[in-house]
Amino acid sequence: MALQLCTCLEFLESDPALKAPTDRATKLHYVKHGAIQPKPADCFKRSDDGRCFRSDWYLRFPWLEYSISKQAAFCFHCRLFALENGIPCSGGQVDTAFISSGFNNWKKALEKGRGLRKQADSQSHAFAEKAYRNFMQATPVDSQHRPVIYLKREIEKSVVGRNSSKSPDAAAHI
Ligand SMILES: [Zn+2]
Ligand SMILES: [Zn+2]
Repeated sequence: MALQLCTCLEFLESDPALKAPTDRATKLHYVKHGAIQPKPADCFKRSDDGRCFRSDWYLRFPWLEYSISKQAAFCFHCRLFALENGIPCSGGQVDTAFISSGFNNWKKALEKGRGLRKQADSQSHAFAEKAYRNFMQATPVDSQHRPVIYLKREIEKSVVGRNSSKSPDAAAHI
C-alpha cells in the first residue's frame, strides 16, 4: 500500500462516467490518483425532489466517486476491478449503476440495504476490493527499491574490480 499518489494534471478533468481502462499500466495510473471525489458544493445539483449528493459521504465510503457530467455516483474499486474482460470477477451479479450508468437515487442513498450501503455490502464490491488490494500488492514500489539494489550491485562490482586490479600489484610487492 506504499504506492505514491500521482499529482499530474492529466486527471484534473477526470470523470468516473468515462470508460475505465483495462490495461495494467493505465489502471495503475488511475489507482495512483485514487477515487475521483470533487468537493465544491456547486458540483452537486439538486434532483427534482430537492436532494443532492453530499461530499461528506466520501468520508464514510472512501471508494465513492462523483461524476459532475452525469450528476451521479460511482464506485472506484468496482469501476476498475469488478469486471475482467466484461465478466464479473465475483462470478455473480455486479451493480452496473456504480460501474457504468451511475447512481443518483439520493433519497435511497443511505437507506439500509439500498444505495451506497447496499453497494458497500455487496459480494461483487467485496471481490473488487480484494482485486484492488491484490493489484496493489503485485505492484512493485520500484521507485523506492530499485535504486538501492542498483547501488548495491554497483558497489559489489567496484569492489570486485578493485580486488582483481589489486592482485597483480599485491603479487608484485611480494
Ligand atoms: Zn498522474
Ligand atoms: Zn463497489
